[in-house]
Amino acid sequence: MKAIAVTPMMKDSLRIQDQDVPKQARNEILLKVQKVGICGTDRDIISGFYGEAPAGDNYLVLGHESLSRVSELGRSVRGFKKGDLVVPTVRRNCPENCVNCKAGESDMCLTGHYFEHGIKGLHGFAREFAITDASFVVKLPESLSDVGVLLEPMTIVEKGMLQTFLMQKARMKKWKPVKILVLGAGPVGLLATALLRVKGLDVDTVATRSEESLKAKLVEQTGSKYINSKVSPLSSLENKYDIVFELTGNTGVALEAQNLTGVNGVVSYLGVYMHEQETEDAGKIYTNLVLGNRIQFGSVNANKSYFTQGVKDLLAIRKRWNGFLEKMITTSVGIEQFGNAYTPQSQEEIKAVIEFGK
Ligand SMILES: [Zn+2]
Ligand SMILES: [Zn+2]
Repeated sequence: MKAIAVTPMMKDSLRIQDQDVPKQARNEILLKVQKVGICGTDRDIISGFYGEAPAGDNYLVLGHESLSRVSELGRSVRGFKKGDLVVPTVRRNCPENCVNCKAGESDMCLTGHYFEHGIKGLHGFAREFAITDASFVVKLPESLSDVGVLLEPMTIVEKGMLQTFLMQKARMKKWKPVKILVLGAGPVGLLATALLRVKGLDVDTVATRSEESLKAKLVEQTGSKYINSKVSPLSSLENKYDIVFELTGNTGVALEAQNLTGVNGVVSYLGVYMHEQETEDAGKIYTNLVLGNRIQFGSVNANKSYFTQGVKDLLAIRKRWNGFLEKMITTSVGIEQFGNAYTPQSQEEIKAVIEFGK
């Protein structure tokens, strides 16, 4: 069968590679892959910044955002049947099985020795068939067969949002957020915008595209305000927001983000930043944190509970705004055109998807 693979840490080694159909162990499911979504993580691996082959292999099959059907079940697997529409989570427990991994929160792994499909030590889902541990697989209703590949990006939103709300409720008896800022209108930013609107919050979403762009239109479809940061600089938004979600991965924006929250505000960082950076006035940042009771926190990866919640919220978004999720998938190609999925095809691209079958 065909698999899309790289030699980890080697720039531009992306290729189609032949692989045997894997055989599921007793606790595993054989997945017939339907779709794989592409994001910056895949592009970083292709650029040779990170990525790790499974033990004994010198290549890594890509793909952590996926949608599959159950093809075969290991002997001890219960609760699934052939043909079920499913999405596996990305991360698997560390070999030490640290307290958090053991508790089902491998997203909070203490050792850093965890595995991640398509990223670190486990082959991904960008292949015709894949296997994974059944206890990390979530079922989806048939109605999400076209957009269920957006579940993994949705879980990044779910975790950032739940943790923000839990922290604020722990800090204040009467916390009631009103105005939220989303920095970035890529897939995660758009999903965050929609989910915050489902929750009835007042949302502003910032990106660098024009007001005529698809991103701007999708933001406005949810009743959020679209702000083009080339026209309205971020500094005009200071002290306005109860929560800021930072998704751009831009260090300058990340530094500015904390000036945009009001007192008792939170910045949730969900992007990954280059290490070299211009340093702003660190004194101002820390003084603002203290004098405004502000918090900043980072969040990465998501455990199964966020995938389960994400299914419910994808359904809620679809019910509220017809066509919103479908329009986010701007590029969809077959496996032979895989190159077109990993290189953005236009300025309007939001999410590119490779179709592996039906
Ligand atoms: Zn991703
Ligand atoms: Zn662990």
